[in-house]
Amino acid sequence: MVYEDLKQKVAVITGGSKGIGNAIAERYGKEGMSVVINYNSDQQGAEQVVTKIIATGGQAIAVQADVSTEAGVQKLVDTAVKQYDHLDVWVNNAGMENQHPTTELSLKDWQRVIDVNLTGVFLGSKAALNYFTSHNKKGNIINMSSVHEQIPWPTFAHYAASKGGVKLFSQTIAMEYAARNIRVNAIGPGAINTPINAEKFTDPEQLKTTTSMIPMQRIGDPKEVAAAAAWLASDESSYVTGITLFVDGGMTLYPAFQDGRG
Ligand code: NAD
Repeated sequence: MVYEDLKQKVAVITGGSKGIGNAIAERYGKEGMSVVINYNSDQQGAEQVVTKIIATGGQAIAVQADVSTEAGVQKLVDTAVKQYDHLDVWVNNAGMENQHPTTELSLKDWQRVIDVNLTGVFLGSKAALNYFTSHNKKGNIINMSSVHEQIPWPTFAHYAASKGGVKLFSQTIAMEYAARNIRVNAIGPGAINTPINAEKFTDPEQLKTTTSMIPMQRIGDPKEVAAAAAWLASDESSYVTGITLFVDGGMTLYPAFQDGRG
């Protein structure tokens, strides 16, 4: 345990069945938090992290819900309150991507990525804000953005648009609810070793290309993103709201200019 104040706080983490969400759930469990771990289809992944948390003396429950639906996010609020009495931290982590030249990007693929990555963040934030404000409670929302809220990404236009949206949505609600003691921040991961990137990072050529774009010259571990999510959830970041905390090994530093190029 690193952050004493997190003990016994209650968190909802969307998309916690694998990757970054899974690592955040595990870290929150280690901090002594009670964790509602959302999954959409991968029940086994979510149950595995629940078992891990319970084995180390923590509390966790896996809940199926599609974050792109109002009923889904409400189910997560209701479960947190029913199971653990209240809610303190909401992490909108669920996300997806697929690659298409924009001329071939179907409306269906555009819509689904926006629905999960952006509308899901809106719906999750709205449900959490409604809970915090109606209970007159201090609250904390963490939205998983990406370096692509800042860096354009050809052939991933829908993904980049969704993350650009997450950035300004997060900043806007951070401002809107700051006086009510509700903090809203985003995390912008760079290239992290999760199932979303599995194919890319098992190909040595692609891995080399990716690492060449990272000043620290390595891809990140989900635990390094989870560490940022623990700090942002804790009172150690009590005066921080409306930021994107990049966890990217320097990817957003314009690495093409390395060694005085340009
Ligand atoms: P991942 O594919 O390993 O995990 C994504 C999670 O989201 C899964 O658990 C999946 O089941 C869940 N999910 C997808 N659609 C959902 C839905 N409709 N409802 C509920 N859950 C749903 O990916 P990851 O790398 O762990 O990504 C997590 C977040 O981090 C995403 O928002 C992603 O865009 C962002 N991100 C990842 C990286 C990276 O390099 N891995 C970089 C930048 C941003």
